[in-house]
Amino acid sequence: MADRLSFDVLVIGSGASGLAAAVSAERAGARVAIATKGSLQACNSAKAQGGIQSSLGEDDSPEQHAEDIWKSSHETADMRLVEVLTTDAPSAIHWLEELGVAFTKESSVNGNGGYRLARCGGASRKRLLQVGDRTGHAITKGLRDAWEAGTGTTLASSPLINLEHTENGWRAWCGRHTVDASTIVLAAGGRCFKEATERGELSTNHPNATGEVTLLAVDAGAEARDLDALQYHPNGGAWPENMQGYSIPETTRAYGAVLLNADREEFTDPLAPRDVVSRAIFDEVAKGKGVETPDGRPAVLLDTTRIPKADAEVSLPYMLRRYRAADIDPLSESILTYPVLHYQNGGLVIDTHAETTLEGMYACGEIAGGTHGRNRMMGNSLLECVVFGRRAGRAAAEKARS
Ligand SMILES: Cc1cc2nc3c(=O)[nH]c(=O)nc-3n(C[C@H](O)[C@H](O)[C@H](O)COP(=O)(O)OP(=O)(O)OC[C@H]3O[C@@H](n4cnc5c(N)ncnc54)[C@H](O)[C@@H]3O)c2cc1C
Repeated sequence: MADRLSFDVLVIGSGASGLAAAVSAERAGARVAIATKGSLQACNSAKAQGGIQSSLGEDDSPEQHAEDIWKSSHETADMRLVEVLTTDAPSAIHWLEELGVAFTKESSVNGNGGYRLARCGGASRKRLLQVGDRTGHAITKGLRDAWEAGTGTTLASSPLINLEHTENGWRAWCGRHTVDASTIVLAAGGRCFKEATERGELSTNHPNATGEVTLLAVDAGAEARDLDALQYHPNGGAWPENMQGYSIPETTRAYGAVLLNADREEFTDPLAPRDVVSRAIFDEVAKGKGVETPDGRPAVLLDTTRIPKADAEVSLPYMLRRYRAADIDPLSESILTYPVLHYQNGGLVIDTHAETTLEGMYACGEIAGGTHGRNRMMGNSLLECVVFGRRAGRAAAEKARS
């Protein structure tokens, strides 16, 4: 039988953005619940590998970071949101560290606060912090531990299926629960799993990435932008079979891997923005210069043998383990790759406190649009989750009290 519940703040989704919002709202004094589709752990955020950007290098600044985003987005990002993202980034990193996230450090003093920083596609500086190559796992674990140590309520296996604006806030139907809340934070991620399934393509995404919460918000009257702009990850695993759809960390290219065609010629800048690299691979294959996987799929070569062993061992241990378990050693031979559907660039329109165009409805993480414009740089999504998740949680708690 359906039960009736009431909270100050209801958060939908338990990825990095939902957890950051829920922890922040609770710490701001609100009674908070998270309603999520599956278990608390089930999300895309936990699968993220490569890292999270923050301008902590000696030669870097939030302004430089913002400039790189503007260029990578082809001048389509909302610069009010970008300025918040890049300015709040260092404090977001330190907050994660307080929650127990241990970013990889260099063994020697390096003037970058000790952090091991990599340069990712589209970036003009080394700016990507990592926790080995399981950064998302470490960040979501830190956030989940903080949430579970508090007094908030978790409603697992409780997908949002309907939403209504009421006199006092929002009424949400989540599985068998009917929940009244003064404010609501939508943090249900993107839709690339569903989109890939419908197109008959591979995707890096978790099966819960299906996008219905965006549609519920739009039906309720919220504005959205750039929803058509879906992003391909340039380096999906193409072979062996059990690595198809795996997102080969882009730090492979940051640490020296290059893309080669069938003649073993380099055909693109490996550190160009994502859409440029993906397009170059599609074009090379269309020209007949690609290779074929044993099961007949298109691919090109990612020459990972150029990655120094010491870098691979510190920054790519999980990737190495997975390929070696399939009898392929990426440090001795090139691996096969092809772009896969990965990320929803656009989403619900938000302001700098993550409020949508509807009062009392907030959105953060992949479900929100604007921060990346029509083309996201790698490492800025986890950052967006933490920066705007914290802002959404604090603002939703404050509005619920007013
Ligand atoms: C394989 C992979 C590697 C990546 N690597 C990186 C990286 O290195 N750096 C980086 O910055 N970004 C990376 N990304 C992107 C980034 O991880 C995600 O975009 C980001 O974590 C999304 O976080 P989120 O909180 O918005 O959504 P998610 O983490 O997807 O969480 C969404 C949550 O909402 C729940 N949900 C969905 N529908 C409903 C519903 N109807 N009702 C209730 N709950 C619902 C889901 O179950 C889930 O708990 C990667 C993504 C993938 C898939």
